[in-house]
Amino acid sequence: MHPVLQQDLTQLPLILERTRQWSEDFLSSLSERSVCPPMASQQVNNDDRLLAEDGDGALAALEHFWHHYADGISASAGPRYFGFVTGGGTPAALAADWLVSVIDQNSLLSHDTVAAAIELATVEQLKSLLGLPAAFNGSFVSGATMANFTGLAIGRQWLGLQRGIDVAEQGVAALGPIRVLSANPHSSSVKALSMLGIGREALKIVGTLPNAEAIDVDALARCLAEQPDMPTLVLASAGTVNTVAYDNLPQLLALRERYPFWLHVDAAFGGVAACSPEFASLLEGWQQADSITVDAHKWLNVPYDSAIQFTRHLALQMQVFQNHSSYLEAPTLRPDNYLHLTPENSRRFRALPLWMALKAYGRSGMRDMVERNVKLARQLGAELAASEGFRLLAPVNLNVVCFALEGVNGDALAARDGFLERLDQQGVVRCTPTLFDGQAGIRAALVNWMTQEQDITLALNSLRACRQEAG
Ligand SMILES: *Cc1c(COP(=O)(O)O)cnc(C)c1O
Repeated sequence: MHPVLQQDLTQLPLILERTRQWSEDFLSSLSERSVCPPMASQQVNNDDRLLAEDGDGALAALEHFWHHYADGISASAGPRYFGFVTGGGTPAALAADWLVSVIDQNSLLSHDTVAAAIELATVEQLKSLLGLPAAFNGSFVSGATMANFTGLAIGRQWLGLQRGIDVAEQGVAALGPIRVLSANPHSSSVKALSMLGIGREALKIVGTLPNAEAIDVDALARCLAEQPDMPTLVLASAGTVNTVAYDNLPQLLALRERYPFWLHVDAAFGGVAACSPEFASLLEGWQQADSITVDAHKWLNVPYDSAIQFTRHLALQMQVFQNHSSYLEAPTLRPDNYLHLTPENSRRFRALPLWMALKAYGRSGMRDMVERNVKLARQLGAELAASEGFRLLAPVNLNVVCFALEGVNGDALAARDGFLERLDQQGVVRCTPTLFDGQAGIRAALVNWMTQEQDITLALNSLRACRQEAG
């Protein structure tokens, strides 16, 4: 054995202990740490770009990383990171995620580990948490992007099936053009269309209801009526990133009766609201969808990278993702046969953090995270609406506040960007830019389990201070 590997083998307990200590220090600093460290601290030293001939050993390497780069790490896992849609990791999920690396199982049906069985049990519990029926199967993928990709891939296979074509075998060209209809697709679904050979140009944007992000179902009906026989995927939103708008799924289902299409529901974070009786009705109808995307690393608060794709069409899923090799088991249709159901072959034991979180906090713990985030988002929205220099761009539906600067003279985009730059410099709260209704907007998305009332106060203080500086 290489002498440094040998040394590290001997020092493993110490290496783990130091890692634990750094982890503890980091986590306890989360509340004070900047949500956006200065650009200068986000650079890699020249020396660290080069491959070493002889290594330093794990302790020295860890020390080096921590010493040089700790200042370049954002408190994105902390309670006031409202940028994008960024979850944190609950203690149970975090501990499980550590263990996933420690035990390093390959989560496929290899008959030598419990990993696949736990993944299946996690999917079943998530269905129970979110009110999804037994007809759905699910599997873990790296994020909502891959969940959208997987759902749309199964949809593509289904479109072929309706026309006697096996797209997985014959290729998408055998089917010809596919039409994708959506009012507000997440950009990751558009990327998926490119990866799937369907093409980004296949997407036709359907109008939204007035002053809203939800689909105008009448406009969709007109589109469908124009070309009733065209192979069609409908991409519904259950929680848009700007205003958490939900498409009216029962109305889409009624249309599906008349025009057979594949209904994919992107519920990356909005789907998690179904765990609260207060919000479950927003998801009404998703039980009948063909495929569904739910992220775990957003509102379910497990560390990156983790999401679940659900579908009612397991056999079609296996047609797409089956994997044949003399040294691997042949595909058999069962819900935990992940090698033959997901884009990856080897797979991290990605389900364990969510399994652990559900075990540790149960239904009521998950509901608390969701309901607390919504309550605090609404509070933040109300305070901003009442503050000089701000206005809401949309009512706070759920857990995202979409707002703008009020009373700006001149270039609204430049004023917004300058404001966000000052906010980042303060580092107390992270919000990220958007365009809403053609206007320069700012988003605050609350999905972190730690966020509490005092964080809203701190965030408001920083937002107001940065607004005043603009004059
Ligand atoms: C975040 C998000 C995605 C993409 O998810 P990743 O986990 O980043 O791959 C897709 N759809 C919606 C609605 C999202 O919020």
